[in-house]
Amino acid sequence: MITPHMRDADVAIIGAGAAGLMAAIWAGRVIPRNATLRRVVLLDGAKRIGAKILVSGGGRCNITHDLVDASNFAGSTPNAIRKVLQRFDASSSIDFFARLGVELKREDTGKIFPVTDDAHTVLEALLGEVTRLPLELRTSFRVEELNREKDGTFEIVGAAGAIRVGRLVLATGGCSLPRTGSDGHGHAMARRLGHSITPRVFPALVPLTLPERHLVRSLSGLTIRAALEVRSARGKRLASFTDSTLCTHFGLSGPSVLDISRYYLDARAHDPTAALVINWLPGETVESIDRLLQTRDDRSVVAVLRGRLPERLSRALCEEAAVEPGLPISRLSRDARRSLARMICELPLPITGDRGFKVAEVTAGGVPLRELNLATMESRVCPGLFLCGEICDVDGRIGGYNFQWAWASGYVAGVSV
Ligand SMILES: Cc1cc2nc3c(=O)[nH]c(=O)nc-3n(C[C@H](O)[C@H](O)[C@H](O)COP(=O)(O)OP(=O)(O)OC[C@H]3O[C@@H](n4cnc5c(N)ncnc54)[C@H](O)[C@@H]3O)c2cc1C
Repeated sequence: MITPHMRDADVAIIGAGAAGLMAAIWAGRVIPRNATLRRVVLLDGAKRIGAKILVSGGGRCNITHDLVDASNFAGSTPNAIRKVLQRFDASSSIDFFARLGVELKREDTGKIFPVTDDAHTVLEALLGEVTRLPLELRTSFRVEELNREKDGTFEIVGAAGAIRVGRLVLATGGCSLPRTGSDGHGHAMARRLGHSITPRVFPALVPLTLPERHLVRSLSGLTIRAALEVRSARGKRLASFTDSTLCTHFGLSGPSVLDISRYYLDARAHDPTAALVINWLPGETVESIDRLLQTRDDRSVVAVLRGRLPERLSRALCEEAAVEPGLPISRLSRDARRSLARMICELPLPITGDRGFKVAEVTAGGVPLRELNLATMESRVCPGLFLCGEICDVDGRIGGYNFQWAWASGYVAGVSV
């Protein structure tokens, strides 16, 4: 069944998330004014567009970061990621939104938000531009199947009917937050059109879980700046992040944990002995804390640690090291001192898992960038097909990087398609 009025659309963009909206806007902007037959349709399975934009950045939408470079991303090679980011950098994003009337501010961390601190401002600006341009937006159009026809056109099949188009942008996202419509079906459709998907697709920017009786779980609600490190079995540092760390009833969350999660999960998949280690006092070492604990005065252990660590945490670490928190510091044995210093600076975390795609902010893995022509984001294996956003094998750190990838890759796909 072919819906008659849609039959001759030139371009369809599947997925109206950040990347798809961007691709549609730029595709719409380059349509010549008198080109009556050039039709661009933007399809999304959701009834309401932009659910993920609205929940992003705690409802404030961290649209980009002051300093963006390929080192803030993982997945495909830095060179490949850089090629796309260079085409539409952070200042291009800032300029783009300013022209749409979105006033932005830079926070001390370098993160960039709308001055309204409200993600609706960003979504409304994007949707306003979609409406202004000669684009057709169809919501509640969930695409079930994509077929490449012999004449090179694409058949897009959904419950609402089928559409035939000349060119296609796949911007269906990854698997994170499936309730927003990004449930990995885009990967299956890309595969059907000849693409590969990385052997592993896993949650990134995701909280991590710890065993039920672990001391961190008893500290639920505590937030502290801590350093997290992924180490190989031989003790080699594979990744490290120092930032705010949140102890929760299930384990750990907060920026440092979200940032390191994909590196930890990836390392474990290759080396089951890789470990995640926390330093509750970034910058200190087992040796420096050992020296601190050699203080000869009347204070208790917990009193010596006061001012450096929250008391709840000090007590929990003492318990873990089998040290009585009220013990006068001068009576601490050498072994107890070393053990407590290790708990403070090198506590291994026996991670039991992650909180999954239901809460993960992004997806690690997807279509490898080597399968795309990065000057256009056109597929090398299926001409006429373009890909952008999180469906690609690119995931960024917390801080606006993932949207920057969506804007940049969406821009390149949009102007090229
Ligand atoms: C809680 C949360 C907070 C975040 N905060 C930030 C932040 O502050 N800053 C930042 O940079 N990044 C943030 N991110 C990450 C960022 O939101 C994503 O990386 C980005 O939105 C990805 O854009 P996308 O367009 O590629 O995919 P998506 O936003 O996932 O959009 C894909 C769209 O495709 C549609 N779709 C999927 N399959 C089909 C189908 N078969 N048929 C039709 N439509 C389909 C979906 O309905 C969806 O609308 C956050 C993510 C989450 C989950």
